[in-house]
Amino acid sequence: MNTLRLTCSVLALNLSLAALAQEPVEPAINAEEQEMVVWLDEREEEMLALLERITNMNSGSLNSAGLDAVAAVFDEELRGLGFSTSRLPGELIEMPSCPGSEYSVDLADHLLARRPGNGSRLLLMGHIDTVFPPDSPFQTFRREGDTIYGPGVADMKGGLVVMLYALKALAAADALDEAAFTVLLNSDEEMGSLSSRKYLEEEALNHDWGLVYESSGIDTMTRQRKGIGQARLVVTGRAAHSGGAHEQGLSAIKELAYKIVQIENMTNYETGLTVNVGVVNGGEARNTISPCAEALIDLRYPQPEQGVAAVELWREIFERVYSYPVDSGEITTESYINLHRPPKIPTPESDYLLDKTIAIGRLLGQDIGIVDSGGGTDGSLTQGVGLPTIDSLGIAGSGAHSNREEARASSLAERAALSAVLIRRLTRE
Ligand SMILES: [Zn+2]
Repeated sequence: MNTLRLTCSVLALNLSLAALAQEPVEPAINAEEQEMVVWLDEREEEMLALLERITNMNSGSLNSAGLDAVAAVFDEELRGLGFSTSRLPGELIEMPSCPGSEYSVDLADHLLARRPGNGSRLLLMGHIDTVFPPDSPFQTFRREGDTIYGPGVADMKGGLVVMLYALKALAAADALDEAAFTVLLNSDEEMGSLSSRKYLEEEALNHDWGLVYESSGIDTMTRQRKGIGQARLVVTGRAAHSGGAHEQGLSAIKELAYKIVQIENMTNYETGLTVNVGVVNGGEARNTISPCAEALIDLRYPQPEQGVAAVELWREIFERVYSYPVDSGEITTESYINLHRPPKIPTPESDYLLDKTIAIGRLLGQDIGIVDSGGGTDGSLTQGVGLPTIDSLGIAGSGAHSNREEARASSLAERAALSAVLIRRLTRE
């Protein structure tokens, strides 16, 4: 008897593990779900109109007026669906810099919306900022057939429209009460979520599933992502006339150049760790030994321990003086270092969520493949604190962060339908 019971429970455990490990078998799309699909199909033009409107509103990461304006659009829409909304304060983050190039980022507020309900607790996420400042030449929405162009159409204003319309379709089907929803739209994702990270991680702890509406290419979703780190490095030396007193100078540019070689040499394609010195600035004049030089550095790392080791190495490189044989202590280095996104490492639960989404997509006639990515999303933060998160539910698009950014118009309704069915099924589990 006891043996039998034990066998049964072992069997049940094995079955549930197997269920997690295999692609879920999803039942066919039912009549209620089909109604949502049709409802969304009929709203393609409405979705495009909203996307055009918000794409034409500049919301570069440091344009707080533009960010507030886009947030206000979603604030109103979400209140219309019964959400209560509030703003989470942004933050002024100051970083070391050379005199005259003071560098600080004044991050705008974020939008939080909640709608209580029974059943699963879902955290829906997206960012309202783009990488295009108000003086960028790339500012306007344009449509040619099924292709739309514009700053943020893929990354990720298209995704915000997908998210909103998935919720609207659920509301039209009277299904919004079946789950507790939190929507968190941050304004600093493109800056590394430096001020919103704490809110995202806090919310993640109180939810069952995380859904991020980033784009992940045309017909793919992302399973695994590298972690991301950043550093800002400021080297100070001593100015001198390059002709009359060369030997009295200590060149910050020369020292930074040595450091850059060390930093760039950390890249190792075999381990997947890459480092990029993306911006350098420094010096005052051709005939002045430079008293200050600075650099912005990007780090990508597949495993958490690689990030920690890279930071240790950065600190050594930053502290050491390479350029002058005798370190007089006058060459100094200040730095800002932040591992702002952990790697997104799949778990059985996040694989279950991804596979379920792909399986539902197939039922809806959407053939979506799976890729790994070196790019980051806020899903890495929420998954990093234990919330199973899918991070690429947004529009089908490409060319993000460039003036070639584009997306597929018809994918708005398709992806919204995918999301609406996914949410509906998650709430009933
Ligand atoms: Zn994005």
